[in-house]
Amino acid sequence: MVTFLAGGTGTPKLLDGATEVFDPASVAVVGNTGDDVELGGLLVCPDLDTVLFHGGGVLDRETWWGIDGDTRETNAELLRLADAAGLERGPRYLPAEAQTSGRDIARWRRFSGVAEFMTIGDRDRAVHVTRTSLLDEGRTLTEVTRTLADAFGLEIDLLPMSDDPVATIVRTDEGEMHFQEYWVARRAGPAVEGVEFSGADSADPTPETLAALDDPVVVGPSNPVTSIGPMLAVPGIREALDATPVIAVSPFVEDRVFSGPAAELMRGVGYEASTAGVAEAYPFADAFVLDEADGTDLDRPVVRTDTRMNDPDDARRVARAVDEALREVA
Ligand code: GDP
Repeated sequence: MVTFLAGGTGTPKLLDGATEVFDPASVAVVGNTGDDVELGGLLVCPDLDTVLFHGGGVLDRETWWGIDGDTRETNAELLRLADAAGLERGPRYLPAEAQTSGRDIARWRRFSGVAEFMTIGDRDRAVHVTRTSLLDEGRTLTEVTRTLADAFGLEIDLLPMSDDPVATIVRTDEGEMHFQEYWVARRAGPAVEGVEFSGADSADPTPETLAALDDPVVVGPSNPVTSIGPMLAVPGIREALDATPVIAVSPFVEDRVFSGPAAELMRGVGYEASTAGVAEAYPFADAFVLDEADGTDLDRPVVRTDTRMNDPDDARRVARAVDEALREVA
C-alpha cells in the first residue's frame, strides 16, 4: 500500500504513472481541502475534484481543473446577470457573521454566487450540487467523496484530509484573502506576507486518512505551502508522517517552479523558494526525487530523473523514481 498527498496539479500529474507502477487498488490519495470554497451555496473542492475527474478519465488536461469539453452556460449567465443588474463582480466574500453560520464545513470560505468568480462548468457544477446535497443530508465529506469516486469509477481510494473545515487564508499587502481569491481572482498579484489555516487547530484528520498514513507516503510535487501546508497544520498528520517512510518529489528544479504560485508563497512564509526550501519544509521526508538538472545538495537520499511531466510516459518515469526511492527507505 502507498499513500500520496495531493494538491491540484503536480500530484495528479504523477498519478498518471503511479497507477501503473503501483497497483491502483493499493493506492490511497489524501487530498488537500484548504482550497475549498462555498460558492453560491455549493461546496467546491478543487483538489479532490481534479483527482476525481482524473480518475474518471474526464479531466481537462490543459488546465488540470474542470471537465474536458464542459460547457459554461450557467457561469456565463451568472456574469451576464450580475452585469445587467449593475452588481459588482467580486469575488464577493460573505459578511463576517455569515462565515460562521450555516454548514460547518464551509466556515471562513463562503462566497456569494453573484458573478461567480471561479469558472464552474455545467457538468462540474453537478458534482458540487451532489456533494453539497449529500453533506446537507448528513453525510461526511469522506463519505460523499467515496460516493463520487464510485460514480466516476475511481480505482484508487480518494480521501479528504479532514471532515472538518480548514480554510487557507493568504495574508498580503492588500489584506487577508482566501487562497482562491488570491490565486483565481487576483492571479497571485498581491505580495504574500503569510499564510494561515483557519480551523486547522481544532480539525481532526479522519480515521481513514490516519490509517492511510500508516503506509509509506509520497508527497507529490505539490505546492508545499497551500497544498501540503493545510495537511501539516491538522494535528496528528505531521506526527503520522514522522512515523512512516516518506518520499517527496520536488515541485522545483533548484529555484525554478514548473507552474503556479509556489515560489511567491514559499518566500511569503519564510522559506527559500527552491528545492532546498522544500527540504526544510519537509523535515519528515526520508528521501527526495529531484530533477536531473537539480544539483541541490541534500542531507537525505536523492533519486534523480527528468521530473517534468507532460504526458503519461513522463509520469511513469517519475513514478518509477518514487518507487526506487521508497525501496531505499522502506
Ligand atoms: P495547485 O493546487 O494547482 O497549486 O497544485 P499543486 O499544489 O499540486 O501543484 C503545484 C506545483 O506542482 C507547482 O509548484 C509546480 O511546480 C508543480 N508541478 C507542476 N507540474 C509539474 C511537473 O511536471 N513536474 C514537477 N516535478 N512538478 C510540477
